[in-house]
Amino acid sequence: MTLDSASLKDWRYEVDREGIGWATFDREDSSANALGRRPLEELGRIIEVVERAGRSGAIKGLVIISGKPKGFIVGADINEFEKLTTEADVIAQVSMVNAMLERIEKLPIPVVAAVHGVCVGGGLELILACHYRIATRDPSTKVGFPEVKLGIFPGFNGTARSIRQAGPMAAMNIMLSGSFISASAAKGMGLIDELVAGPDSLHWAARKAVLQGRKSKPAGFAKAALGKWPARLALAKKMRSEVAKKANEDHYPAPYRLIDLFEKHGGDLEAMKQAEPIAFAPMLMSPQSKSLRRVFKLSEALKAQAPKSIKWKPTHVHVIGAGTMGADIAGVCVAAGMEVTLQDISPVQLEAGIKAQGKLFAKKFKTKATRDAAKARLIADPDGKGVSRADVVIEAIVERLDIKQALFSDLESKVKPGAVLATNTSSLKLADISQPMREPSRLIGLHFFSPVALMPLVEVVQGEATNSGEVEKGAAFVTAIGKFPLITKDVPGFLVNKVLTPYMFAAMARLEKGEDKEKIDEAVRTFGMPMGPIELADSVGLDICAHVARILGQDPSGSRLDSLVKAGKLGKKSGEGFYKWVDGKPQKGTNTWSKEELQRLGRELVSPIIEEAQKSLDEGVVASSDLVDAGMIFGTGFAPFRGGPLYFKEQEAGKPAQVAA
Ligand code: NAD
Repeated sequence: MTLDSASLKDWRYEVDREGIGWATFDREDSSANALGRRPLEELGRIIEVVERAGRSGAIKGLVIISGKPKGFIVGADINEFEKLTTEADVIAQVSMVNAMLERIEKLPIPVVAAVHGVCVGGGLELILACHYRIATRDPSTKVGFPEVKLGIFPGFNGTARSIRQAGPMAAMNIMLSGSFISASAAKGMGLIDELVAGPDSLHWAARKAVLQGRKSKPAGFAKAALGKWPARLALAKKMRSEVAKKANEDHYPAPYRLIDLFEKHGGDLEAMKQAEPIAFAPMLMSPQSKSLRRVFKLSEALKAQAPKSIKWKPTHVHVIGAGTMGADIAGVCVAAGMEVTLQDISPVQLEAGIKAQGKLFAKKFKTKATRDAAKARLIADPDGKGVSRADVVIEAIVERLDIKQALFSDLESKVKPGAVLATNTSSLKLADISQPMREPSRLIGLHFFSPVALMPLVEVVQGEATNSGEVEKGAAFVTAIGKFPLITKDVPGFLVNKVLTPYMFAAMARLEKGEDKEKIDEAVRTFGMPMGPIELADSVGLDICAHVARILGQDPSGSRLDSLVKAGKLGKKSGEGFYKWVDGKPQKGTNTWSKEELQRLGRELVSPIIEEAQKSLDEGVVASSDLVDAGMIFGTGFAPFRGGPLYFKEQEAGKPAQVAA
């Protein structure tokens, strides 16, 4: 039986002159390969043909490869998850895929996966069903199981096959962490069998592997001591306690259910394959997973704020101000491959700011050569010589209107045409800063969050006079440095601080009334925030909180906040604020409160966030409720498993769950 290649939209299938079948995944109308229903059906048809040809001796082997220049398979198509409405649907769907993977595994001829670029989730599960896996050493080649981040775990029998392949410890670690690893790390774990230099060597190596009938040597279930029952029990217990340090079971059940699955069946490949869909289905249907899938889509919606059509590519950034924000903004731009000139009136600050980026570069760049290259791209520029060459100029100097006004009037005459002019102000109006400029329409806000390297969101502020083309360029710049842009109106606090401030002050007001600060913080953590409001205030700096409060019309005079600031107790940075801080940690007592009490109080404490989020939407601070939610999740860590304040409000009111379009 032959296959009419023209009937395939997402795959190509050809047999070469040596009798090797090549199945090339190249999903139609998409820059990336996601395993949706159609590509899986087409792969099934290819496997049917290969089965016959393999049995009759018409072909010697099969290679599975990607037709995309940059990526292998990004995983299952999560948009299609939303079409599944019952657990039975889920089980039926994954069982079909699993049957196909089983057929691949049982093919009588060698099946080789040839991987270049990202190969994660369902993509990794597919290659684990092949007999041999080759990957390029290219830095873009990464493998991993991101499923836990979506509130699920691998469902195409990847739990069983990864344990068989890499052994229980390594496989469970990679599934529980959700992080991606390099091809060489994957080879070290046994998930990849062979490495080649780059995509040019991949075809040749795959051909050789087929002709030599190479087979992977898995770690094996039974051989590994940890696959045995008592050892597995102990290991599962340890894993649970490790996971509990990072994720609350009520909020993030998926890693816990994965550990249960391993504990019960992790010593028997077939039993684990059978049990996986039954454990997987309720996770996919859970409200937590729905919310986390929504968060993923919200991140895509944020990226879409930068129009794809834009041709402008910033390569040189000039940052003015090498303090807390400016130096880290410069570091992040350099880490993204850009050249940065950094200016400050204080030579001491300039030197310290540049030195501080060493940590980020050490984390980001693994070889000395790439680290040295990064250091060379970060140039001290006390006289501002880089201004005239820069594609983007970012101001991060003291928060004083007169000084910023003078700076921008001067900059305007020095920058090249088309360069973006941006302020990182957190409290001044763009209309005021740009007032003395000849072309106020050029000024945008690029409001970064601290610590810059860790916070994914940047608010791109559009003043009343700002030209929308400049805002689009600002958003494109933000995506080019690997962050999520959120276009906001020029209102006090923009979106994130506007929504956060009433909540922070309501919590502080409770303190004034005698409520225990530790109870407040614990209640909000119980709701799902990464940190409570009192600890957050101490972390941000109480002087900054008081300043923001004034700008947003909440005068702190006479409050505990005010007296602490006056006493120089500014929080984490001074060693004492509401809490005493030792080694960067707030000192807390050992009080415990009932779960119900914490849940009730936590819900009350987040009410101001929900109310202000709604107000911001009504006032058009950002363009949609999805963007309000995205801003609060990526700007403040608002409980991701709740999908954002406005989505949470809808769910609570009993409206049907909707996942962001
Ligand atoms: P900072 O005091 O740490 O640093 C300011 C730096 O600017 C100092 O190194 C100072 O020497 C330098 N400077 C002052 N005037 C200058 C001039 N005319 N030319 C060149 N350099 C000059 O301040 P920061 O916390 O980094 O804040 C900078 C800006 O970022 C402010 O507008 C602030 O509102 C905003 N911001 C701060 C945060 C935060 O969490 N700290 C968050 C978002 C935005």
